[in-house]
Amino acid sequence: MPISGSGIVKLLPGRKGCRECGFPTCFAFAMKLASGGVTVDKCPYLSEETKAKLTDLLAPPQKLVTIGTGENKLEIGNEEVLYRHEKTFIHEPGIALLISDKESDEEIEGKINKVKELQYPWVGLVLRVNLLAPYFESKDKARFVAVVKKLYESIDLPLAIISEDMDALFAARDICADKKPLLYPITKENIENAIPKIKENPTPVGVRGDSVEELVLLTTKLKDAGIEDVVLDPASKNLLEAVRDQTFIRRATLKQTFRPLGYPTIAFPCFMAKDKPLKEMLIASLYVNKYAGIIVLSDLNPNHMLPLLVQRLNIYTDPRFPISVEEKYYEIGEPDEESPVLLTSNWALTYFVVASAIEATKVPSFLLVQDAEGLGVLTGWAAGKISGTTVAKLVKNCGIEGRVKHRQLVLPGRIARISGETMEALDWKWEVVVGPREATGIGAFLPEFAKSLKQ
Ligand code: SF4
Repeated sequence: MPISGSGIVKLLPGRKGCRECGFPTCFAFAMKLASGGVTVDKCPYLSEETKAKLTDLLAPPQKLVTIGTGENKLEIGNEEVLYRHEKTFIHEPGIALLISDKESDEEIEGKINKVKELQYPWVGLVLRVNLLAPYFESKDKARFVAVVKKLYESIDLPLAIISEDMDALFAARDICADKKPLLYPITKENIENAIPKIKENPTPVGVRGDSVEELVLLTTKLKDAGIEDVVLDPASKNLLEAVRDQTFIRRATLKQTFRPLGYPTIAFPCFMAKDKPLKEMLIASLYVNKYAGIIVLSDLNPNHMLPLLVQRLNIYTDPRFPISVEEKYYEIGEPDEESPVLLTSNWALTYFVVASAIEATKVPSFLLVQDAEGLGVLTGWAAGKISGTTVAKLVKNCGIEGRVKHRQLVLPGRIARISGETMEALDWKWEVVVGPREATGIGAFLPEFAKSLKQ
């Protein structure tokens, strides 16, 4: 937390017992402010100056920056810890694909198709590329604008527009400003001219400095101009500099709450390892671990992408909670009113193993998923997350009773003892069928059981 409750209380008016904020004391209000449970405007006695000061002090140390709009927008930043095991990393880095305007129309079309095709379903999620990065290399502004227009119209992904030429950069921005692209690079050479143009139609900007000190000067200038959707590029040239710069920025942000560096970063393995695809991917992998907000790649090789995307998933899933699926009934195939109903827990791995085993039998079925706080079936049962009561409540509330005319629920054999519990108390009308102990037994069990339901 950027400021503690006891730090906040020193800035409050201290009117004893006024309670107009809804809290009995200023101290209670301060504690709630510190935890984010209330906003500063609830106290009517704060001056505008104090409100602004408090709002600034309470802001997360690293800014949340959103690139793009709609369901595919990319949110980066707002990170709270240096190491994942301290709590969790929050916003996974966006993977961007560089598309030079020197590439032919066929090559660009090929890259767009690759982005559309390279999507990996993974325990209920889809792993994929997040942004396109059109790159002005041709020195032909009309060509660059045409490429940006093509990307904008072909695929609903955010854009990170890269151009050293400011005219080309802002002309491209004007094509797609409604989708809030990232504009890169803002540098010490162009910042004075860029600020008014950014303010005409604000979108996030990527700032490049030859050193961290230079970045501080640039972000301070942008903040003074009211521009705060900023992404930092410390222009690291090799692995050593990459680790040094990213770590320095993250530590200054989180440990010193140093606002001028409190922004997410962008990194360019595509330029650091030109024409060396494996090295490029290793650098990208390092940036997944060491703090980049956006990682720009030159191409998408499926053999490299899958490990990178899985690594990103592993680093950015919350270690405090297992990956889980929603509690409800799932249809596998096209089940009807005589189809089997099976139950499992909501740990994503369990769900997908069981669902795949059912799918393999080709017996259309309903799979009822019980929320066990992401635990497996046996652990969930042992921890009291799956019990006769929870199962009976789920069956009653999830709507499955309107989908089948029989009343037989297949429980995993591992928790067969659940059938002895007091489900009757909840008007339980179902017969519990003890299913196989392991998902591997579903193939032998399910076809015969489905037949018995039709007799
Ligand atoms: Fe204190 Fe303001 Fe709340 Fe009154 S309204 S108790 S002055 S924080």
